[in-house]
Amino acid sequence: MIIREIQAKSILSASKIYPYVINPYVGCQHACSYCYARYMKKFTGHKEPWGTFVDVKINAAELLRKEICKKKKATVWVSGVCDPYQPLEKKYELTRQCLQILAREEWPVVIQTRSPLILRDVDILKEAKNVEVGFSITTADDGIRKLFEPGAPPIPERLNALSELHRLGVRTYAMVAPILPGSEMLVDRLAGVVDYILVDRMNYHHADFIYRKYGLEEKMTEEYFLRVSRQITSDCCRLGIECTTVF
Ligand code: SF4
Repeated sequence: MIIREIQAKSILSASKIYPYVINPYVGCQHACSYCYARYMKKFTGHKEPWGTFVDVKINAAELLRKEICKKKKATVWVSGVCDPYQPLEKKYELTRQCLQILAREEWPVVIQTRSPLILRDVDILKEAKNVEVGFSITTADDGIRKLFEPGAPPIPERLNALSELHRLGVRTYAMVAPILPGSEMLVDRLAGVVDYILVDRMNYHHADFIYRKYGLEEKMTEEYFLRVSRQITSDCCRLGIECTTVF
C-alpha cells in the first residue's frame, strides 16, 4: 500500500448527490472491484491499481474549520469517492475531526461506509443534531463479498455495526448497491436495524472479469437486477421498511 500525506487545497466540495461532500482521503484500501471512484486516478495522476494507494489529506480539519464559516449550511456527504472509515482512519482520525467540526456547527451529515470502525465515533454521532449513517451492504453471502470487495469488512460486522448504531438512536440506512449475487437475501437481516433501504444496480463494468471467472454471468443481466430489486421491494413491503430503488 502506497500511503502519502498531502496538503489539500480545499475539503468542503460541491456534490451532485448532496449539496456538499468531504473526502478526507484520495484512494481506498477497501479495493472494491467494481468501484466507480477509480476515475479519481485520472484527476490525481495515480498510475497504481485502485486499492493500492491512499493520499491522506492531513490538513482536512484545518481546511474545514476555515471553509465552514464561508459557506451556507447544508447537508454534507461523508464521503463520495473513498470510504471515510477505511483502515487508515484509525491512525489519522481525519473523518472524526471533520465530524466533530460539523456536529459542533450543527450541519446535517450523511455518512456512508462499509466499516464498523465508525463505532469508535459514537460519542459524536449520539450528540449530533442531524446525522444519519448508511452502510453499503451488497450481499448476504460473505463468500461473494470476498470476491467483489476483498479489502472491505465482512458483512456480519457491518450488520452488527448497523444494529448497534440503530440501538443507540442514530438514524440508519442500508445501501444495497450495487446489487450482487445474494442481495436478494438481505432484507430479513436488515429488519430492525435500518430506517430505510436504497437499492441500485451494477452500473459499471470494472468487475465483469469476476462474473466471468466464477461463472456468474447471469447475475449481471438487466433481468437479474430487476428481479432482485422487485424481491427486495416486496420483502421491505412485508416487513414495513421504507425502500427506494434508484434505477
Ligand atoms: S469502499 Fe467505496 S470508495 Fe472504497 S473501494 Fe469500495 S466502493 Fe470504492
